[in-house]
Amino acid sequence: MKIVIVGGGWAGTAAAISAKKAGAEVHLYEKTDLLLGLGNVGGIMRNNGRYTASEELIVLGGGDLIKITDRVATHKDIDFPGHVHATLYNVNKIEGEVKDYVETLGINLHMESRVRDVEFDGHKIKGLYLADDTFVEGDVFIETTGTTGPMGNCLRYGNGCSMCILRCPSFGPRISISQRCGVSDLQGERAEDVLGAMSGSCKLAKDSLSDEIRNELDDKGVVVLKVPKEDVNYDKLNSKVCQQYALKEFAENIILLDTGHPR
Ligand SMILES: Cc1cc2nc3c(=O)[nH]c(=O)nc-3n(C[C@H](O)[C@H](O)[C@H](O)COP(=O)(O)OP(=O)(O)OC[C@H]3O[C@@H](n4cnc5c(N)ncnc54)[C@H](O)[C@@H]3O)c2cc1C
Repeated sequence: MKIVIVGGGWAGTAAAISAKKAGAEVHLYEKTDLLLGLGNVGGIMRNNGRYTASEELIVLGGGDLIKITDRVATHKDIDFPGHVHATLYNVNKIEGEVKDYVETLGINLHMESRVRDVEFDGHKIKGLYLADDTFVEGDVFIETTGTTGPMGNCLRYGNGCSMCILRCPSFGPRISISQRCGVSDLQGERAEDVLGAMSGSCKLAKDSLSDEIRNELDDKGVVVLKVPKEDVNYDKLNSKVCQQYALKEFAENIILLDTGHPR
């Protein structure tokens, strides 16, 4: 059976590994030059209930990616507001490790290959068109193009394009293949009638931090810095999608995490 996966984020990569282990011929199409999509900016794993979920995954035989994040962890078992016993993985190392593993399994990776449309044979999907008009046929199609909207949406509902890790101006915007098949995308709202998602984290260059902060970050994995009282703005918390970051501690402090780059 030939399984075609669209989108090489965590979801698509995990799907590819499962399908390959089940004995299929697997082809994964990713529009950028990196696997893992938004996983290249995250870093927090195994916090709170996700610890148990990770252990369950490993016991059930689907823990390959968890084991890799453990292997490239910068810190384990750390606590910070909203998070207990978290592992932080190194966002600079994770993609290469995962790509090597996926290639070892014999999964066919098609990088810089954006899927742009779908062709039907009756109610069945016959195949997919890539941006260069190549037609790809398969027996099963799996859509894992994530949740980020096309560039127009990011500009309209987000905070403007700053060339995030998906780099749509270079690689083209996300195209939702499931939507092309008639299944509507879910739209997140951060306030009534305000579409889009905001988490509120960014990466800093480690060298831009003072020695004191950098040393503490290297040592403990987390540094909590007080925001001056006059700059605390609790209203900003209302626009956050991730509830675990909509805590008052995230308005009152800057919380730095060592995920390779400080986050
Ligand atoms: C700033 C930030 C910090 C975060 N921090 C954490 C964290 O610390 N811990 C955590 O667990 N989660 C974190 N998250 C959330 C987590 O990163 C995402 O939930 C997760 O990575 C989503 O994975 P995905 O595979 O569903 O989608 P995505 O990562 O969005 O992957 C989709 C992939 O599909 C590709 N694609 C899209 N359209 C096409 C197309 N037409 N053809 C081919 N390819 C296509 C994209 O290039 C992308 O690689 C964070 C998210 C953000 C934005």
